[in-house]
Amino acid sequence: MLIHRKWIAFAAVTLLLTACTDQNTATSDEKEPAEEQAVSKEEQETEEVKKEEAAKEEAEAEEKPEEVAAADPQYRINSANWSAQPITDASEKVVLVTIDDAPDKHAMEMAETLKSQNVPAIFFVNGHFLDTDEEKQQLKKIHEMGFAIGNHTNSHPNLRDLTEEQQTDEILQLNETIEQIIGEKPKFFRAPHGANTDFSKQLVQDQGMVLMNWTYGYDWEQQYQNAQSLTNIMINTEFLNNGANLLMHDREWTSEALPDIIQGLKDKGYGFVDPEAIEGI
Ligand SMILES: [Zn+2]
Repeated sequence: MLIHRKWIAFAAVTLLLTACTDQNTATSDEKEPAEEQAVSKEEQETEEVKKEEAAKEEAEAEEKPEEVAAADPQYRINSANWSAQPITDASEKVVLVTIDDAPDKHAMEMAETLKSQNVPAIFFVNGHFLDTDEEKQQLKKIHEMGFAIGNHTNSHPNLRDLTEEQQTDEILQLNETIEQIIGEKPKFFRAPHGANTDFSKQLVQDQGMVLMNWTYGYDWEQQYQNAQSLTNIMINTEFLNNGANLLMHDREWTSEALPDIIQGLKDKGYGFVDPEAIEGI
């Protein structure tokens, strides 16, 4: 995460510099700040005007960091179909990659595949995959590689079968576990089986997490539990549309199919949503 944070800081500085440059360019017909000062002396501008300019500059300087922060979100999860919709002029032709039931046996390999293809993703994790030090290290590594971590409940129950207290435990315990490992709470939540309750939806919102189900996924169906069939359906399904939220799992056949799935999506002209660019609550 350190690396990632550094990158964000670098990007923020770059944006800031770009913003400054743009501003300079936009006002280049007028005067550069140094020149302005010199000329203003010659012209003997009143103190009042100078003060006004100084106040304006100060206000602009204060605005800039906020502009950088506010410029980050580019997509919003549409709760009608769970797709990622641009809220800026960001590309519409994108998909969101999500990997559930992690980190089990294949999450690291899947993270490496995605990283090598420069594809961001959300890993939705479960508490029962975070019992051992090795599993915790895997989560930490996946996070440090730049992937977003989502809450998929502590023990993968159907929330509709649980009391409100049990639902609370399932969600909050895992938030704590994740925070202990990666140093921050997860931004995203996905219910096992996509089975949300009114109570869990409210709880997730109160926790400031973005809730999502998915648009399509196939790797749990018997006929797609091999790399070839899975690759074929993932890139040729009629449900592949702009903003589609793709559900895959930490499974052997999915891990094996992942390079070809990503390549197939790229060949069809799709880009990939960066979870960091998804609007928060
Ligand atoms: Zn699951």
